Amino acid sequence: MGNEILMARRTAQAMPLEHVLCALCDASDEELLVTKKGFRVVRCRRCRLVYVNPRPQAEALAVLYNAAPEGHGAVAGEAVHPGHERYKMRKFQRAVAFIRAYQPQARHVFDLGCARGAFLALAASQGWVPYGSDVNPHFVAALQRQYGPRVQLQQGTRLAFPDAAFDVVTLFDTIEHLPAPLATLHEVRRVLRPGGLCVITTPNVEGLFPRCTYRFLGRTLGAWEHPTPPAHLYQFAPHTLRALLDRAGLPPVAMRTFGIYPPYTALQLENAVIEAIKHRRSPKPHPPLAATSHRKDAAAGAPAHPLRKLPRLGLRVACWALVGSLYPLARLCDRSDAMLVAARKPA
Ligand SMILES: [Zn+2]
Repeated sequence: MGNEILMARRTAQAMPLEHVLCALCDASDEELLVTKKGFRVVRCRRCRLVYVNPRPQAEALAVLYNAAPEGHGAVAGEAVHPGHERYKMRKFQRAVAFIRAYQPQARHVFDLGCARGAFLALAASQGWVPYGSDVNPHFVAALQRQYGPRVQLQQGTRLAFPDAAFDVVTLFDTIEHLPAPLATLHEVRRVLRPGGLCVITTPNVEGLFPRCTYRFLGRTLGAWEHPTPPAHLYQFAPHTLRALLDRAGLPPVAMRTFGIYPPYTALQLENAVIEAIKHRRSPKPHPPLAATSHRKDAAAGAPAHPLRKLPRLGLRVACWALVGSLYPLARLCDRSDAMLVAARKPA
């Protein structure tokens, strides 16, 4: 991990956390679901939105994002997984199919949270004119060499584009990071032309897999793989995302679920269980933003006796077995742990 990211983490750690109201119903009536990486993941008792509270201030998160040339994964201490790129391209292809079906005349397509610009390239290959914005200045600087001012640095909720400029706005795994998702969706509505389409992908906290693991591991052991604070400030479900889009004046027109990259889920589950066990053995609070990677820690330590690795191997096999059995079931009943939503600005 680069010194720049470590220094950014220290800077961000020194900033105070902020308490927030529910972003969907403005209530302050929450129940604790789990504590993960030192953060409380709570659920609103009124509308069931799941979010991190208290959370790092937007400035603290900006410091982290700006220092992470690898993107937000570095904020959470996540490794980049082989095969993840193929998974991401399949997700983009699903969105392209949605756009072709619901906005066949699309021309100007804006990707909010465009990261390295993988979707911009795909959009260009479809004959569309791609636009983008991202909070990461490293990504934006690189993309501006190719796309010029069509790619802008994202600062705050304001989008740096005129009213009714786009036929389609996409947010791929972005909305769960936004400090003010409703305000951003209002901006999305502003830059969409009447009848324009907004396409969103985000994890589905009410998917079969996260529901089962919360019920059997999260509630009992405090081990839940699904939320990834502090990068993910929100965990949406179909009904909470639908309600948020309705509030923003972007009524949904289509929704389907799909599976998160399985090796990623298996690793997250394994790490969550180990973190929970370690915490039970020595329940000292770990500082927020001090993200850990248990698999990496184990590799860096003294060589363990081969027999000591057996429980770890058993845990890994169990995690994979759970993923292998629940994922196909979730796909069958459209209850997978990520979702794709299309919403339309009224004409
Ligand atoms: Zn609420």
